[in-house]
Amino acid sequence: MIRVSAVDKYFGALHVLKDIDLEVPRGQVVVVLGPSGSGKSTLCRVINRLETIDSGSIAIDGTPLPAEGRALAELRADVGMVFQQFDLFAHKTILDNVTLGPIKVRKVGRAAAREEAMQLLERVGIADQADKHPAQLSGGQQQRAAIARALAMRPKVMLFDEPTSALDPEMVNEVLEVMTGLAAEGMTMLVVSHEMGFARRAAHRVLFMADGEVAEDSTPDDFFQAPKSSRATDFLGKIL
Ligand code: ATP
Ligand code: MG
Repeated sequence: MIRVSAVDKYFGALHVLKDIDLEVPRGQVVVVLGPSGSGKSTLCRVINRLETIDSGSIAIDGTPLPAEGRALAELRADVGMVFQQFDLFAHKTILDNVTLGPIKVRKVGRAAAREEAMQLLERVGIADQADKHPAQLSGGQQQRAAIARALAMRPKVMLFDEPTSALDPEMVNEVLEVMTGLAAEGMTMLVVSHEMGFARRAAHRVLFMADGEVAEDSTPDDFFQAPKSSRATDFLGKIL
């Protein structure tokens, strides 16, 4: 599970995360939405320790986020992250993209890593693309490869930051279907996404962020049907 306690984050004078408290229990799927600049990406990045925090604490499965070194590398292995821009290694095949982390970080043997990677590529529906390079795949296929690569580290939690917003519309569903499957299997997930269909189908909770705060924390039905704040009402008016 993910536990974020009293976290503050500043960029210079800008107070980007304001005293955030958040718990995502094991197996829960939380969708985060909110206006541009409200701190959604920063929240993901501090949980993966791509950004430092200024106060408070963050723990994954009870283990506090370490500051640096070997413990940090292990923490990163526990927290899978998928970004808006599918950041695959351009000069490696899809299969090599997926096996690299397990071989280097998890110290899995090459043959075992390949076998596991092929199963993951099968699961996200692109086993037939294993020997191609990223540029030869569609955006949706690349994003599914990025998900397989993250899963290859056997993460305890998965963070997604707008994983479908850079995709052509016809490719959005193939990625959301993989994510829905993952949610159904009980993966703990924090998903920044404005895809309402996914939120309704897969999310246990919806967080609405505004100005660095969690302004609402409710069920998808409650949030989409009856948001409590005027900020959320305004926001929904723009995305619906
Ligand atoms: P979007 O919907 O546009 O992705 P967001 O909710 O993800 O927005 P963040 O990217 O978390 O918002 O940014 C929150 C605030 O922090 C914004 O005002 C942004 O300009 C600022 N910010 C983000 N990263 C940095 C950085 N590395 N240095 C300085 N300011 C930053
Ligand atoms: Mg963002």
